[in-house]
Amino acid sequence: MEILALMRVFENRSSAGDLQRITEIMRGTLGEDALSWITGNHRAAESMLNEWDGTWGNGVESLSVGLLLHKFNDYRMMELIRIVDQDPRFSLEAWERANPEDQKIILQEYMATLMPIFGVNVDPVIEFFTELPNDDGLITLGRYRHTVGAGTVRVNDWILENWDAERSYDAAFNTIRHELRHAYQDWAVDKPENFPVLQNIHDVWKSNMERHGGHYIFEGNERESGAGVYTYEEYRNQPREVDAFAFGRMRIWEEYV
Ligand SMILES: [Zn+2]
Repeated sequence: MEILALMRVFENRSSAGDLQRITEIMRGTLGEDALSWITGNHRAAESMLNEWDGTWGNGVESLSVGLLLHKFNDYRMMELIRIVDQDPRFSLEAWERANPEDQKIILQEYMATLMPIFGVNVDPVIEFFTELPNDDGLITLGRYRHTVGAGTVRVNDWILENWDAERSYDAAFNTIRHELRHAYQDWAVDKPENFPVLQNIHDVWKSNMERHGGHYIFEGNERESGAGVYTYEEYRNQPREVDAFAFGRMRIWEEYV
């Protein structure tokens, strides 16, 4: 895979020349429109760089190259997902015609079709659970549970019965992509040789994984400092979630909220 080799070459470099070179390669491979889509949201990119640089000690330029390549690969994955999304089985019309039990089957098929794109090995059977929104109206749409060599995607089926078809369609398909991206993060950390993800991005994800001694934020949990509880924004802005939300929404760059 050409991109994997390129990423290895640039992984530990930190010069503006490298950034220029990789930009030229991407321009040649993808064309101007795709490149501007990948690099388009400079503000989001900058805020990520500002957050990551101080904490993990990587040079900003090195991280820029890494992120650019990371987003290049994300772009290619999203292109493939867009093709899947054209399939009539996964259309809003098919969803509207289906009852909740049939909608679960549609979601299973969607996930099975996306798994090879994400390159992850998860149980193809979605584990459905039922959980109501909390007092603030926030609802947990899904979860991903990982063990080495396997994983399970869980989806909240409450929305299938209680939301209108358009809303549940958007949320459910978004959740499958979001949770598969969490699977991707875990698989990339476990099997780095199989995924074009840079070491500094592994480090960021690991620092956000409890099984690697990292710290994962749950909204409503007590802060370690004892100063109150974590907010939704803090949950939402941790690195693994920013990355997974971007994939759920099919955006290359996800703004911090
Ligand atoms: Zn998530």
